[in-house]
Amino acid sequence: MFQLIFSFWRPIVEILVIWAMVYSIIRFFQGTRAMQVLLGLLILVILFLVAKFFELNSIIWVMSKLFAVGVVAFLIIFQPEMRRALARIGTTMSGAFLQKNGLMEEILRAVDYMSRQRIGALIAIEREVGLKNYIESGMMIDAKVSAELLWSIFDPHTPTHDGGVIVVGDRIASCGSLFPLTQTLELPSSMGTRHRAAIGLTEENDAVCIVVSEETGNISVAVSGNLTRALDAENLKRILEGLFYPAENKNFLKEFIEKNRKIFRFQRQEPL
Ligand code: ATP
Ligand code: MG
Repeated sequence: MFQLIFSFWRPIVEILVIWAMVYSIIRFFQGTRAMQVLLGLLILVILFLVAKFFELNSIIWVMSKLFAVGVVAFLIIFQPEMRRALARIGTTMSGAFLQKNGLMEEILRAVDYMSRQRIGALIAIEREVGLKNYIESGMMIDAKVSAELLWSIFDPHTPTHDGGVIVVGDRIASCGSLFPLTQTLELPSSMGTRHRAAIGLTEENDAVCIVVSEETGNISVAVSGNLTRALDAENLKRILEGLFYPAENKNFLKEFIEKNRKIFRFQRQEPL
């Protein structure tokens, strides 16, 4: 009896699991450069099956050699995506960073001022995954976060304003750091390298990136490769609270995005 039920359910469970795997792989790669590579691979596999069907032996021979090389090529091409996926596994949201007294207020005050003054800014806040490499690409600072210090760093007349600031705990670890630019093609042309750097960094790790546009004064937040227009400091505050204190503010970002669907210029995957 048990055997019968088992043999009946097994294929269903297997199909469901495979479907879920394929679906999440496609979701994961959607809108990225890897999606085009996946499509290319799919076409090659179909070609291979056709060659098999018609017994075109020399084509099969060439393709089987190609597939062997393909495994290595696959690892190289997908390396950034795989690093991102591995970094995400086992990463849990934690609220340790902004809990230190007043830190969030300092960041919000700085962002609010820079947005009003149209001072371009890029601030990454480290979470679980360390940003050491990126810190080292800039000028190391190691000073307590304060709004005044952030203004001075991003003041366009200073040599420090180019690149991004990295906040670790309650300290500014570096300024002038270089972040990886996203390869996505889906970005509106009004968004240049500063926004691309924010998205690119958060595609690779779990950092939260705040961008103030020099052109428009708009405030945006990037998380997991998604850029969300926060509109003003009040919204930014609630979004950050939702990210850093998830227990109390679980659904704020999701609900905010639902309510303001039209204002979001760029959403690559699920909001969170
Ligand atoms: P804005 O709306 O402020 O104009 P944008 O998205 O249009 O932003 P750009 O105008 O190209 O972007 O902004 C250029 C600035 O972005 C540079 O001066 C530099 O400070 C920053 N930036 C560019 N590339 C990177 C990078 N890879 N890492 C960190 N910061 C970067
Ligand atoms: Mg620009």
